[in-house]
Amino acid sequence: MEVVQSHRKSSSNNVIVSILPLYRSAPPLEVRLEDFEFFAMDRLRVLKGISDGLCRGKKPEEMEKLVVDLWKANMRHPQAVEEVNKDIISHFVLRLVYCRTEELRKWFLSMETTLFRYRFCLKSSEAQRALMSEFKLPYKAVSNAEFESVKDNLGQVARSMGQTLAAADAIFYKVPFEEVPDLVAGRRVFIHKGHAYVAMNQVVSLVVTQFRSFLSKALILTNRKWTSTIREQEKDRLTPIVEALCTSYQGPDYSQPQEFGEISIKDIDQVAKTSFPLCMRHLFEKVKEDHHLKHGGRMQLGLFLKTMAWCSCLMGVGLKLDDALAFWKAEFAPKVSAERFDKEYAYNIRHNYGREGKRTDYTPYSCQKIISVTPGIGDHHGCPYRHFSEENLRAALVRMGVSSRAVEDVMDKVHNRHYQLACTLTFEAVHGSSCDAGINHPNQYFIDSQRVLQSKNGSVA
Ligand code: SF4
Repeated sequence: MEVVQSHRKSSSNNVIVSILPLYRSAPPLEVRLEDFEFFAMDRLRVLKGISDGLCRGKKPEEMEKLVVDLWKANMRHPQAVEEVNKDIISHFVLRLVYCRTEELRKWFLSMETTLFRYRFCLKSSEAQRALMSEFKLPYKAVSNAEFESVKDNLGQVARSMGQTLAAADAIFYKVPFEEVPDLVAGRRVFIHKGHAYVAMNQVVSLVVTQFRSFLSKALILTNRKWTSTIREQEKDRLTPIVEALCTSYQGPDYSQPQEFGEISIKDIDQVAKTSFPLCMRHLFEKVKEDHHLKHGGRMQLGLFLKTMAWCSCLMGVGLKLDDALAFWKAEFAPKVSAERFDKEYAYNIRHNYGREGKRTDYTPYSCQKIISVTPGIGDHHGCPYRHFSEENLRAALVRMGVSSRAVEDVMDKVHNRHYQLACTLTFEAVHGSSCDAGINHPNQYFIDSQRVLQSKNGSVA
C-alpha cells in the first residue's frame, strides 16, 4: 500500500473481488494522505461504536443492527469498489496504529473480530461458503451415513437451543472441539471423541477463530516492521498521523462555543455543579480551594471553559480571552499577585487562545486524550474514573448525587476500564435521562446536560 500526497490512481484495475475482505495482505493501492487518515477515522468510529455497544451489554440482535447502522453511517460509498477499497485501506492503517502495544493490539483484535463476525453473519449462505473456502478450512461435511449415526444427539442439542434439526438439508462439519471454544462453552454443539459437530448456521465460529488467529499474528508482525523500519522511515509523514490516531477524537467538533440561554459569570459556580463532568468539576473545585492549578490542570480546564456553551451579555459566546484572564486572575489572587500573574500565567492563557507563540487556536481535550494522560504528584487533571482511587471516586460520585446503586454500576464499568461508559452512567444517574451516544468529550457532557436541564426547566443553569 503506497501513500501519495495528492491523488489516487484510477482504481478501475484495482478492483478487489471479495464479498468480505479477509485482509490477508496490504493491497497494491495508492492512497492519498488525507484518505489514509480520514478512512482510518471512519473505521475507528465503527469500532468505537461496537466497543460501546458491547460494554453496554447489547444483545446479539441489537449488536447486529448497531453494526449495520455504524457501517452505513461511516463506511458507505456510492461506488462499491470504493467502499471495498476504503474497507481495506482503513483496516491496514488501523493495523499500523493498533499494533504498537499489547493493550492496543488486544482492543483492535477484539473489535475487528466482532465486526467481522457480524458482517459474516449478514452474508448469504453461498457467500459464507465462498468465504469458508477462501480460508481453506480443512473440514469436510459429515457424510450421510455418519449424520444418521449421530442424528439423535444432534437433535437433542438443537432442541436444547429451541431449534429443530432440519435433517433433509442439514450440513454439519466435524472439527476439533478446541477450534470452536464459544460453541463448546455455550453447549451449542454435540461433541464426540474430541470432535464438535458444527452446523452450517454455526460455521461463523470456525471462520471467526481463523480470522482472529490470523489477525493476531499479523499484528505482531506489523509491530516488528513498525519498530524496525516504518516508524523511522516515515517519521516526517505517516508516523505523526499513526501516533495521533489512537487518541484522536472522532466525535463532533467542540472547538467552537455553542449557544444556550442566558448565563452570567455569576452563575458559573452553579453551572459547574449541575453540568460539568467530573473531570472539570474536580479541577474547578480545586482552583477554588487551592487558588492554584498546575499547567496540565490549567490547560484541561482552560480549554474546556474557553469553548463552553456560554451565552451572556457579560461573557459573549464562550469564555472570551479577557474573561478567561479575569477568571484565572481572580481565582489565583489569594496566592499569586497581579504582577506575578501577568508575568507567569497570562502568556499561557493567551497562548491557548492563539494570541501567542504559534498562534494556534487550541481545541478542548477529548475524553480519550484526557484518559490517556499520566498526572504527576500534585496534578489534578486527567479523568477521575481512571485516575482517582476507588475511595475518592466513590466519595466524588456521592457528592454529585449519584445513588448508591448507580455508584455500584459506575464502579463496575471502572473496574473493567470502561471509563467513558462510567461517565455516561454518571450522566444518566445525575440527569435522570439516557445518553445513548455515550460521553466522548467533556464539552459534549456539558452541552447534553444543558439540553436536558433546559427541557426540564425551560431554562438552563
Ligand atoms: S469520561 Fe471524559 S468527560 Fe467524563 S470525566 Fe472522564 S474525561 Fe471527563
